[in-house]
Amino acid sequence: MANPYHMTPDEFRTHGYEMVDWIADYLATIGERQIAPDVKPGDIRAMLPDHAPEAPEGFAAIMADLDQIVMPGITHWQSPGWFAFFPANSSPASILGEMASAGLGVQGMLWSTSPAATEVESVVLDWLVDLLGLPAHWKTTDRGGGVINSSTSDSTHLVLAVARHRAADRGPAEDMVAYASNQAHSSIERGARLAGYGQVRLIGVDDRYGMDHAQLRRQIAADRSSGLIPVAVTSAIGTTATTAVDPVRAVGEIAAENELWHHVDAAYAGNAMICPEFRVYQDGLELVDSYTFNAHKWLLTNFDCNILYVADRRPLIETLSTMPAYLQNAATESGAVIDYRDWHVSLGRRFRALKLWFVLRSYGAEGLRYLIRSHVALADELAARLGADPRFELVAPHPFALVCFRASAGNETTEALAAAINAAGDVAVTPMQLGDDAIIRVSVGQSYTEAEHVERLWNLIDTHTPAIQEES
Ligand code: PLP
Repeated sequence: MANPYHMTPDEFRTHGYEMVDWIADYLATIGERQIAPDVKPGDIRAMLPDHAPEAPEGFAAIMADLDQIVMPGITHWQSPGWFAFFPANSSPASILGEMASAGLGVQGMLWSTSPAATEVESVVLDWLVDLLGLPAHWKTTDRGGGVINSSTSDSTHLVLAVARHRAADRGPAEDMVAYASNQAHSSIERGARLAGYGQVRLIGVDDRYGMDHAQLRRQIAADRSSGLIPVAVTSAIGTTATTAVDPVRAVGEIAAENELWHHVDAAYAGNAMICPEFRVYQDGLELVDSYTFNAHKWLLTNFDCNILYVADRRPLIETLSTMPAYLQNAATESGAVIDYRDWHVSLGRRFRALKLWFVLRSYGAEGLRYLIRSHVALADELAARLGADPRFELVAPHPFALVCFRASAGNETTEALAAAINAAGDVAVTPMQLGDDAIIRVSVGQSYTEAEHVERLWNLIDTHTPAIQEES
C-alpha cells in the first residue's frame, strides 16, 4: 500500500500553486512592510509548541502559522528599502530554480550520483569565467575550475587549509603565518585559526583602505628572519566596511616571490565584474591561486550560492581526496569526470547550480549588467548629493554601490541619524564604527531597489540632519 501520509500528486499541485501565489504576493507587497520585526528574544519561540506534532496536520494550518508565527519575526531583506549590510539578492527565476532543485532532490557528491548536477555546475561556472573577465585557465576545461559552496567563509577556510597542507613539508603549522589587511573580513582570521596557522598578520592600509603592500613585503621578510613560515595571503576586492580594493597585482608579485598561496576575497564586488568597466579593480588575477565571491549577494541568485575558483585544481583535490570502497565507481576511476566531493569538506551537496543557471538564462548577461549599473548609478547620485552638502562627509571612495558617510557634526549626530532612518521602518541602513568615526553604510543592491527608494532614503537623511549653525 502506498504511504498514506504523503500528499497525493494532486494535493501537491494545489498546495504548490498556493505557495507560488503566497511568494508572489509577498514580493508584490514587500515594499509596504516594516523591514525590522517588532519582536523580543523568545517571542517567536513562545508561539511554537514545545513538541513536534504526533498526528499529521493539514497544509492550511501550516500556512496559517507561516503567516501568524513566522512572518512577524521576519526581517525583510528583500525590501527595496534594504540598504543594510550587503544585499542578499533573490529573483523569481532563482526561486523557481531552487524549486526545481528541491523537486529533483538529487545529491551530487559524485559525477555518477547525478551527472547533470556536476556538468551543469561546471559549465555555468566556466561561463562565469568569461562573463566576469576572470583568467581563462580557471575553467574546468583547463587546469582550474569552479565549485559552488555555501559561503565565502567556507571557501576561504578551505583554501587556507589547502595552502597549509601544501606547505606541510616547510615546518610545523604553529610556525605558519597567514596575511591579510586590517580591513579584511573576519572570516580570514577565523579560517586561518581553524586551519591551524600559528599567526595571522593584519597589514596596515593606505588612505583608501587598500592593503599597504610595502608593509606586507617588510612583514614577510621580518617573519622569515625570525624563523616563521609565511604561507598564505588574502587580498580583498571590496572590503566589507568600505568596499576598498587591495592591490592584487602587487600582492600577487610578493606572493609569487615568497611562495605564498594568494587568495582573493571578492565576496560582494566580484559580482560587479560582469560589467567590464569594473575590471580595473581585479587587475592581477593571473597571479592568484584562488578566488571567491557570493553570487547570492548581488547577482539575483538566492542564498546560498558562493563560488570558489582555483587556478589549479590539483592541490585542492590532493588535499581532500579519499576513496572509501562505497564510493568507488567506474566514472571516477576513468579520470574523465569531476567529483565535486573532492572540492570541499562536505560529501553531500545540493544542486545549487540550477538556480544560477536559471538566473543566467532568464536575465542574460545584459540583464545582470543592467542591475549592477543601475545600482551603481543610484549610489553615485546619492554620494554626489552627500558630497555636495556640508552637513555630510563621505568617508571612503565608493567604487561600487556602497556609500559610507558621516554627519560633519560628529559621532552623536551620525548615530542619531542612523537610528532615525532605521526607525522609519521602510528603510534599513547599517551604522558602523570606522576607526574613531561613527559612520553609516548605505549599500544599494537589493533586487528591486529603484530611484524612488533611494529618494526616500535621501529624504530621511535630509529631514533628520540639522542644518549646520553659522558661526556668528
Ligand atoms: N568577505 C567579505 C568581503 C564580506 O563582505 C563578507 C560578508 O559580507 C564575507 C567575506 C563573509 O561572507 P559569507 O557570509 O558568505 O561567509
